[in-house]
Amino acid sequence: ASNADLIAGLIRSVPDFPKPGVDFKDITPLLGSPNGFSAAIEELVRAAPEDLDVVVGIEARGFVFAAPVALALGVGFVPVRKPGKLPCEVFSKSFDLEYGRETLTIHQDAIPSGSRVMIVDDILATGGTLAATAGLLGQLGVELAQVSVLMELEALGGRRVLQDAGIDHFHAIV
Ligand code: 5GP
Repeated sequence: ASNADLIAGLIRSVPDFPKPGVDFKDITPLLGSPNGFSAAIEELVRAAPEDLDVVVGIEARGFVFAAPVALALGVGFVPVRKPGKLPCEVFSKSFDLEYGRETLTIHQDAIPSGSRVMIVDDILATGGTLAATAGLLGQLGVELAQVSVLMELEALGGRRVLQDAGIDHFHAIV
């Protein structure tokens, strides 16, 4: 089977988590599988654009994928975090989530302006998280070369939200 089939088969649907009506995609079986986890990193690395300077990961599940991708590509890793976690001056952005409201932050000096950056996250759902992260990177003045996720939940329409946020290059493994 292909890497994509292997990866898709290791992400399980959990109905009504964390709220009734939400069909949660649980990636822990994928992380627990050495073959599955390495296939996921391999595919994210394969899909990366040329000449990147930085990979950005989003707390918390995004870290698990973005950090190994950064290492494999030989570029730096920069975390986007929940409020109150980063110790120095931050840019902040608040937005609505599939379930609740969220704020994300990044250190103002995290990435030199003009750098070529890729964002890596686990799941594209409504798109709010990735659109907000792209907004933070806009404040830093970097070039967003690509957004990559492991899985896109197509029914939630996130891709359109990313387009509206000016994200031109999006890639989903499954
Ligand atoms: P969005 O902002 O696109 O609605 O939600 C995406 C963010 O929420 C991602 O950072 C992702 O980690 C998390 N998320 C939303 N839905 C799911 C889901 O079904 N499974 C997992 N693992 N994460 C989700």
